[in-house]
Amino acid sequence: MLEVKGLNKTFGDLTAVDEVSFTIRPGEIMGLIGQNGAGKTTTFRIILDLLTADRGDVLWNGDIITNKVFNTVGYLPEERGLYPKVTIENQILYFAQLRGKKPKDIKPLIDDWLEKFQVKGKKTDKVKTLSKGNQQKVQLICTLIHQPKLIILDEPFSGLDPVNADLLEEGIKEAQANGACIIFSSHNMNNVEDLCDSLIMLRNGKQILHGSVKEIREQFGRTRLFLESDLTKEELLEFNGVTHVETTREGISIVHLRSTEDGKAIFNGATKHGYIPMFSQQPPTLEEIFKQMAGEKNE
Ligand code: ATP
Repeated sequence: MLEVKGLNKTFGDLTAVDEVSFTIRPGEIMGLIGQNGAGKTTTFRIILDLLTADRGDVLWNGDIITNKVFNTVGYLPEERGLYPKVTIENQILYFAQLRGKKPKDIKPLIDDWLEKFQVKGKKTDKVKTLSKGNQQKVQLICTLIHQPKLIILDEPFSGLDPVNADLLEEGIKEAQANGACIIFSSHNMNNVEDLCDSLIMLRNGKQILHGSVKEIREQFGRTRLFLESDLTKEELLEFNGVTHVETTREGISIVHLRSTEDGKAIFNGATKHGYIPMFSQQPPTLEEIFKQMAGEKNE
């Protein structure tokens, strides 16, 4: 179990991480989101002891993280770093040795991992001959092949096409099923919705959202109404609490409400003459929440 308690880190006048606290249990995946410069990478570096916090604690199974624990860590840094002139196989073996693994234990696993991530290239090919996305997949294999119990991935989806993003999602879910504690950062809210048991949003280093995707979405209220009825846009705008109305190409109205309650009068109005094909009140998507929260003025 990873416990992060009250982390603080300043660089001169800038507070990069401000009272960040969370817990990740075995088999749980946490997403860390936030705009560029929000403090995600700094948080990861502190967890890994690559940076020292001004205040706060990072505990792994109740103890301070030591060198011994690092052998059970898989870290994909934001700055990808492979050796271009080394073969894929030797690259993977090198990183595994840094994590205390013997080449004879890792060598037999390499073909399966290259297959699993559909790396386009032979294991005897030099890293520099691979495309950027395939190099990224090799680095992910280097991060995961020693079956780490704590996995920290800094923007693992960046640069991957949708097929490869799915392969990575599968890889992360497999590590989760093996009981790893996983934390990753992403600017792609779909990956976060697909994978995360919980998520944290940072803004200027502060934790402004924390919970499951469902909890966070619900706390914003069911303020998006997807409606198919004979009410016109002008009629919808006359209801209390309607801030604006969009119409999709398929003729569905997306009605933005001030609060969940505002949907009731519209329901009554839309069903006055009986059946309507669609009335669905939803909370905002994670992407909408991200944009709203990122845009809000800082306290
Ligand atoms: P991105 O999404 O762009 O990767 P991030 O959320 O990972 O951003 P961090 O890299 O953690 O953000 O940076 C948080 C803040 O701390 C930024 O304002 C950054 O400029 C600052 N910062 C990070 N490292 C240092 C450093 N070594 N010295 C000074 N300032 C730093």
